[in-house]
Amino acid sequence: MASVKPTTTILEYQNFVQQVYGLPNMRNYSVGNLLTNMERFAMRGLKGIRKKDREKTKTNLLISFSWLMSIMNQFHINIEDEIWNRFPYLCSYCGICPCTCKEKKVKKRELFNTKKNTLKPKTLTDFQAMFKRIYPPETRSLEHAGIHLAEELGEFAEGVLTFRGEHKETDFGRIPKEAADYFSCLMGVFNSIDVAVSKELSILFSNNCHVCKNAPCTCSFELVSRFKS
Ligand SMILES: [Zn+2]
Ligand SMILES: [Zn+2]
Repeated sequence: MASVKPTTTILEYQNFVQQVYGLPNMRNYSVGNLLTNMERFAMRGLKGIRKKDREKTKTNLLISFSWLMSIMNQFHINIEDEIWNRFPYLCSYCGICPCTCKEKKVKKRELFNTKKNTLKPKTLTDFQAMFKRIYPPETRSLEHAGIHLAEELGEFAEGVLTFRGEHKETDFGRIPKEAADYFSCLMGVFNSIDVAVSKELSILFSNNCHVCKNAPCTCSFELVSRFKS
């Protein structure tokens, strides 16, 4: 039986997704299919924001997160490292914690050295807490966090499409960066609605696939495409 622990690290969660969904993903899904599902559930999460339905937002963004992990596995990207490189307890743009982008109207990404910073979070919970410090939820509305998530999702999709279209190594480098940005916005929304991500993942994924309860998952492509949440 595969499960996600409340104390999971990001890498352990990524490995869980590989264990449960790696095989059906390889057999049944192109990267484009995975991306469509990641987007589809994220949009349902945003619908939850519009309808003020916290449960809908929570469930669908957790599912979108698992599709992101499937894409990371397909590309062999260790997202935990990428997140830390991009956000070393600092905003990836202004290079300060808490972020000062709004007050300072920062136009250009600041360069900073991650090696000097020794505060690297261990668990997914620690990473979520880090993002709460960098981007305090009280400084923006939930809707604002949701719009930012949609923006980053679009940029991630653009990164994947560009690489897949032209197959250039230089374009590949954009994918992990955009994935880290999407992750930060995901944490942003979860912090705004006060959801403890790893605790909720441990409930959703207490026993293999959250739908068929098998590992590897045996949900058919059709069942997934008609799945209501
Ligand atoms: Zn900033
Ligand atoms: Zn399943």
